[in-house]
Amino acid sequence: MFSLMGQGCSAAIQDAVVLESLLRQHGEQLSLVLPEFSAQQVEEGHAVSDLGLIAFVFYHRWLGLLYKITTLL
Ligand SMILES: Cc1cc2nc3c(=O)[nH]c(=O)nc-3n(C[C@H](O)[C@H](O)[C@H](O)COP(=O)(O)OP(=O)(O)OC[C@H]3O[C@@H](n4cnc5c(N)ncnc54)[C@H](O)[C@@H]3O)c2cc1C
Repeated sequence: MFSLMGQGCSAAIQDAVVLESLLRQHGEQLSLVLPEFSAQQVEEGHAVSDLGLIAFVFYHRWLGLLYKITTLL
């Protein structure tokens, strides 16, 4: 998660909105709600982490090294 863009906070809020919506849609039956929640939100979470700027910088060969040196300084 890239903290400056509030991605973690945004993802958590989206999770809460989706969970609340599914709970209303399925009358709070968790056996239906939880698998549906995972089907939607795990994919979203992977997309955020795969496309996130911090992951790109951190795991890039040279940018990752530069990031670590800058952080140390
Ligand atoms: C060091 C650090 C810095 C960060 N900085 C930022 C930032 O600057 N900006 C930003 O947007 N995001 C930031 N993040 C990411 C952000 O904190 C998370 O993405 C966000 O808190 C996720 O919210 P969540 O509600 O999904 O999960 P969490 O906040 O992890 O909440 C899950 C809760 O469930 C509880 N729990 C777990 N298992 C059980 C169980 N079996 N029974 C009952 N309770 C359980 C846990 O104790 C926890 O309280 C940072 C994260 C870290 C670690």
